[in-house]
Amino acid sequence: QITLKQVEKSFGKDHVVRSLDLTIEDGSFTVLVGPSGCGKSTTLRMIAGLEKQTAGEIWIGDRCVNGVEPGKRNVAMVFQNYALYPMMTVKENIEFGLKNRKVPKAERERLIADITEIVGLSSYLHKKPQSLSGGQRQRVALARAMVKKPDVFLMDEPLSNLDAKLRSQMRAELIQLHKRIGTTFIYVTHDQVEAMSMGDRIIIMNGGIVQQSDSPMDIYNDPANRFTAEFIGSPP
Ligand code: ATP
Ligand code: MG
Repeated sequence: QITLKQVEKSFGKDHVVRSLDLTIEDGSFTVLVGPSGCGKSTTLRMIAGLEKQTAGEIWIGDRCVNGVEPGKRNVAMVFQNYALYPMMTVKENIEFGLKNRKVPKAERERLIADITEIVGLSSYLHKKPQSLSGGQRQRVALARAMVKKPDVFLMDEPLSNLDAKLRSQMRAELIQLHKRIGTTFIYVTHDQVEAMSMGDRIIIMNGGIVQQSDSPMDIYNDPANRFTAEFIGSPP
């Protein structure tokens, strides 16, 4: 599990995350949701190690990762602008990180075959990114993260560049993918409908504070406060 203990983040005098206490269970599909600017991306980036917290501790499993660099945390992050290398093929894009980590060729081939099969890219391996659709590019970004076999996937609004139809298709695919591989997902969105339809655990943030952390059912039926009720649109 991932545990945040009284984690805070300030930029100068600006307290963007205030005393976060959170536990994220192994294998969960946890969605971090809240209005723009509430501190979701900052929280995710702190878990990834891309941003250093001002106070508190972050634990991944039984290891406190304060001061552990991003590459040594065994997490993978997928962003909305996934920046594929335009000159490389799909396969080369996915293989790049594996080569850097000196994964032997036979092992690389096996991983790439397995994972591109899962995300439905097997017949696109030799294409360049510009000849792919938005959804296919997003799948390459996912595959690139998956070959790292991370303990946790951190996703920051990964579908927001896609059109509505593709977005709903990719939502369903991500839910299937999560079921299939069972790895912990932490998924950030500002869209409460997306959150409620995807997550098995929803963390609602506002103003750098967790407002509620529960199953979608419990949040809907029993909102902790007025903010949560209005944000989710629960019946009064
Ligand atoms: P959105 O839904 O718009 O992506 P968010 O919940 O992800 O919002 P964050 O990106 O975490 O919000 O930002 C939280 C607050 O921290 C914002 O007010 C933002 O301006 C501020 N902030 C984020 N990064 C920095 C930075 N590097 N320097 C200064 N302020 C920052
Ligand atoms: Mg954000």
